[in-house]
Amino acid sequence: MNIRKNYIDTIKRNCASPENAIKDLSYWRNNLFAGIIIYMLPFCLIALVPCLYWIVITGQYIMVVVDGLTVISMMAVVFIPGLSIPFRKVIFVASIYLCCLLMLYYIGMSGPGLIYMLIDSIICIFIFPVQYAYWSAFLNTCICIVVALAIYFQLVPWGVNQQDAVGLWITVSSHLVFLSFLSSALIPRISNGLQQTIESEKILREELSHEQQSLSHAMAMLEKKNIELEQFSYAASHDLQEPLRMITGFLDQLEKKYENIFDAKGKQYIWFALDGAKRMQQLIVDLLEFSHIGSKQVITEDINLDELINEIRILYCTQIEEKNAKIIVEPLPIVHSHKIALNQVFQNLISNSLKYSVAESEVIIKIGAVEKEMHWQFSITDNGIGISKEDFEKVFIIFRRLHGKGKYPGTGIGLAITKKNVELMGGNIWLESEENIGSTFYFTIPKLLN
Ligand code: ADP
Repeated sequence: MNIRKNYIDTIKRNCASPENAIKDLSYWRNNLFAGIIIYMLPFCLIALVPCLYWIVITGQYIMVVVDGLTVISMMAVVFIPGLSIPFRKVIFVASIYLCCLLMLYYIGMSGPGLIYMLIDSIICIFIFPVQYAYWSAFLNTCICIVVALAIYFQLVPWGVNQQDAVGLWITVSSHLVFLSFLSSALIPRISNGLQQTIESEKILREELSHEQQSLSHAMAMLEKKNIELEQFSYAASHDLQEPLRMITGFLDQLEKKYENIFDAKGKQYIWFALDGAKRMQQLIVDLLEFSHIGSKQVITEDINLDELINEIRILYCTQIEEKNAKIIVEPLPIVHSHKIALNQVFQNLISNSLKYSVAESEVIIKIGAVEKEMHWQFSITDNGIGISKEDFEKVFIIFRRLHGKGKYPGTGIGLAITKKNVELMGGNIWLESEENIGSTFYFTIPKLLN
């Protein structure tokens, strides 16, 4: 077992390209060369057996010598370390040619010499680069001419009528020459085609890696900018809170301590200033919350949505009672996602449906889920004031509100947070709405989050 492994490993080490080399045509040519030798060496040894039979019936040792020589030269070329692969190939091909010639000489034109010559020629076409395809065909032609001359001058021990033998040799060997040229013309077409495919694939791969590099560079830049932006908004909102606290604190003092000094107008001005400062405080808190989304590691878990909606119902029970709202919940699945994010999404959408309801009319909110192939699609439908089509995109922009704060309280950050959360979970959010009829907010989350 070990001998076999060592044998194969040595041949591969000496004759094949290294495993990590670019797998182009020369890689596969070298690989084929190693493969041919791996099988051919044992075959040559087995071929010695019929040669022994030849000795028994003819008493000639020549075939054993021929075969033995081929094996020895092949072994030498394969196992001597430090030789280049092209050199090994040349010696290998030459040793087979030598074997062919000896076979031709001693067995005659009807022996296997010609067949081996054709095989050698085909091996050459496969293991050498395309530009050398015709070399073996020319070599075959030369050998055939030399043999014809040898027959003519009676230098071969064939013992046939000289005139007939030359004619016969030309007839037989011309087939070999024809087949060699045909193979040289046709077989390289495969490698040429393969070469083109490999080259275009190589170009594509290079382009792809170039694109990937610039993409990862852009991603790294984006990530850096994101972190900077988050740090900036965090720092800005954090640092703004302190002076704001001072303003509200002193305005409070002013209102309390100098209550008797201020007239009605003065008190109203102080109230406006306090109200503005408080709104600004709320905006800063919202901004901080927005900048925090996604900054922590996302932990996913199984979420029972019926339970989640019930918790939201309890949280908003006062508004639900005040508005006498009906919340209809269709069967909801258990999903695997980010619980805090999903909770915030449902909470924002339900609270908006409660907030933007039509006064004095029955408030109905429907929550549904549809299973799609890759994701769950949720919907929250209300019969509220609705949104006009041109505002569909605007509502998701941070601090963008469609109504004055006097009519509906809020800072305009709820839907921006909702969108950011949905995207954090790998989904999409959009809406359909008609003014004075109601709105439906849809969002998706993938079924499986890795
Ligand atoms: P906020 O409610 O604090 O104003 P949001 O980001 O949640 O901020 O909403 C942005 C705007 O989208 C709101 O000012 C409102 O005009 C509109 N809006 C959101 N939800 C609804 C809804 N269910 N029906 C009608 N309008 C809505």
